[in-house]
Amino acid sequence: MTLPDLTEDCSRCAALCCLAYPFEAREDFGLLKQADTPCPNLAANFQCSIHKDLAACGFGGCVAYSCAGAGQRVTQDLFEGETWRDDPDLLTHMTHALRVLRPIHEALLVLQEAAALPLPRDLQERCAGLTRALCPGNPSSVWDFQEDSVQQALAEVPEFVGRVAPFAQAQG
Ligand code: SF4
Repeated sequence: MTLPDLTEDCSRCAALCCLAYPFEAREDFGLLKQADTPCPNLAANFQCSIHKDLAACGFGGCVAYSCAGAGQRVTQDLFEGETWRDDPDLLTHMTHALRVLRPIHEALLVLQEAAALPLPRDLQERCAGLTRALCPGNPSSVWDFQEDSVQQALAEVPEFVGRVAPFAQAQG
């Protein structure tokens, strides 16, 4: 089993994070916006027009954000490089897919870190089993990630993290 790329590559994404999520008043964004709405700072080439000044402009939330590689996977693998600007009908399908894949990629990152810990065998096997369950074979659409087996594994990750926390703390 090969893990997907878990590091974001904005050059291969259609700026889905700048589109999918709402900015709310309590959050660290310099403006408010609805979900599934392009940020007004997003340029036509899918780059952020204030990228160098994000923190100074009050967009610390963008600095801290990571999609864990879900954005480019949605764009390239599930939508074959098409974008919501090529076809506006794709917009909500792409943002939905990001919202489904991002937590899975974040969970895979956590499991990858757990796998590097000196865990007892039962936890090693649990870690490997959860990782396998979160990586459906040859996925072609978001539906593959919404299967019960994937979502059940995702729901079990927090409990697993609680069990491995003492081993992480022992590592310092
Ligand atoms: S400020 Fe820039 S990085 Fe943040 S959502 Fe808007 S376009 Fe994207």
